[in-house]
Amino acid sequence: MNKKNVLHVKNLSKTYFKDSAKSIVALNNLNLEVKEGEIFGLLGPNGAGKSTFINILSGTTMKSSGDVNVWGFDIDKNPRQVRASIGIVPQEINVDPFFTPRKLLELQAGMYGIRKKDRITDTILKLVSLESQSKSYTRSLSGGMKRRLMVAKALVHKPPIVILDEPTAGVDVELRGNLWDNVRSLNKQGVTIILTTHYLEEAEKMCDRIGILNNGKLVALDSTDNLLKKIQTKKVKFTVNKQVNIKSNIFNSLKISSNDKNGLSVIYEKSKININDLIQTIEKQGINILDISTDDGDLEDVFLTLTKN
Ligand code: ADP
Ligand code: MG
Repeated sequence: MNKKNVLHVKNLSKTYFKDSAKSIVALNNLNLEVKEGEIFGLLGPNGAGKSTFINILSGTTMKSSGDVNVWGFDIDKNPRQVRASIGIVPQEINVDPFFTPRKLLELQAGMYGIRKKDRITDTILKLVSLESQSKSYTRSLSGGMKRRLMVAKALVHKPPIVILDEPTAGVDVELRGNLWDNVRSLNKQGVTIILTTHYLEEAEKMCDRIGILNNGKLVALDSTDNLLKKIQTKKVKFTVNKQVNIKSNIFNSLKISSNDKNGLSVIYEKSKININDLIQTIEKQGINILDISTDDGDLEDVFLTLTKN
């Protein structure tokens, strides 16, 4: 059965105007769709436009042009229905330190106009494993717990889509696992998940599909498996007797990870560069190659080659 799309984004652009002299194009003609029930990951380096995208969905940033449709609702015509359809976990933690998790969730539910008898505070506290902290002051919670409380806050109105912006930034490894478990169990209950992260290993494990954003443009959009198959990257390390003079811009897709008198390490797309060309470039400089080691790349390398400027 074909799953329906729950998010349509068409020609979405955003330009920030700092002052009359300076403008920043944060999103440049973005097109993408997200399917019901999937975990979609939006990846990209700092400044790529990920938060701008999410803030447009949440209604805190105005788009410059383009169309956004969430759960069948147009963001311009039905902004309230759009907001009701999504739960947003923003990048910055903003929870009042003097409220308890329970109080916070009750207040949030009140803001959405949910009647007392329809509230699901206990269920949510359980889902994010904060039952035993439900009566503690928020300021006494660890960073990971606060982050989970942010997730909880996004769930009070039972949104069918949950969007998380860098949910594991600043959360230690153990608690990150815990948070991802929460996200997975939400997804198992049928909630569509859209997330941004720069932990590529986690994206590789979590996401059904991935979009890679660079300078406000999508440079890849595919299933995680296809992305890894299609963009076959190679990591090569040349051990040399003196430093190679090489600029990444002489080869399409070449990313230089390190270069000094002992060696040159590069990552590139197999289909775009032949290793012989690299060897020739080095030898033409009268440099001896003492050793070459190669390795197939992972998502991190795909990401690096695609977002190289
Ligand atoms: P990401 O979340 O991928 O790191 P952002 O969406 O935060 O990227 O930022 C994209 C670009 O837009 C950056 O160049 C950033 O400096 C700029 N930007 C973001 N928010 C604002 C703003 N409120 N005013 C001006 N420029 C902004
Ligand atoms: Mg961001």
